[in-house]
Amino acid sequence: MRRDARVLVVGAGGLGCPALMALAHAGVGTLAICDDDEVDVTNLHRQILFGEADVGTPKLDAAARALRAMAPGIEVVLHRTRLLPDNAVELVRTADVVLEGADNFATKFLAADACALAGVPVVHASAVRWVGTALAVGASGGPCYRCLFEDVPGEDAPNCAEAGVMGPVVGVVAAAQVDLALGLLDGADVAGTLVTFDGRTGELRRRPVPRRADCPLCGPAPRIRLIDAASYASPACAG
Ligand SMILES: [Zn+2]
Repeated sequence: MRRDARVLVVGAGGLGCPALMALAHAGVGTLAICDDDEVDVTNLHRQILFGEADVGTPKLDAAARALRAMAPGIEVVLHRTRLLPDNAVELVRTADVVLEGADNFATKFLAADACALAGVPVVHASAVRWVGTALAVGASGGPCYRCLFEDVPGEDAPNCAEAGVMGPVVGVVAAAQVDLALGLLDGADVAGTLVTFDGRTGELRRRPVPRRADCPLCGPAPRIRLIDAASYASPACAG
């Protein structure tokens, strides 16, 4: 099953890098990645697929090189774009499960909406300072990211570049994200599970998320029925 599976990782950043390594080692056959960024020297400490020699090159090329070296049988598919309103549904539809580790809320909500509309399971992950979370959403769409966070926040939300994030926290959260994704692929009952990790105490908690009765995405009368670009305009960042 895993050998035949195709997983899409949105963003090859601090969460995407360790997640991609774990997916490759877990035997997932096809790893698709979407990203349009270049390797930056200031991020090397947490973007552990990359080295000094990769600085200035596209993250996709550096990631593909590293993944093919560690798992030669793997197929790596590169989408040289970020997830955008006009390509999101098309991109997620190609995957059996999506891992979303974007550093901004707009992309997180876009991934949530696109996956729900396409009927594709998704695991969201984020990490800010010492705290990280991972949420598994099943193919049926709920409970979903919008049950936790109703809508894209305003511009005063913390930016991950400003708030900072601790390297070990992203590693733990990415491992939890991959664990949930493999569970979804393997048919385990993990949809609606939220994992939280607090790097200050080392506490890792796993609990079910309640469905929001009036959720605009997965509720009985959903208001989100298509991707409207204007809904994802906020530049706010989630880590
Ligand atoms: Zn929901």
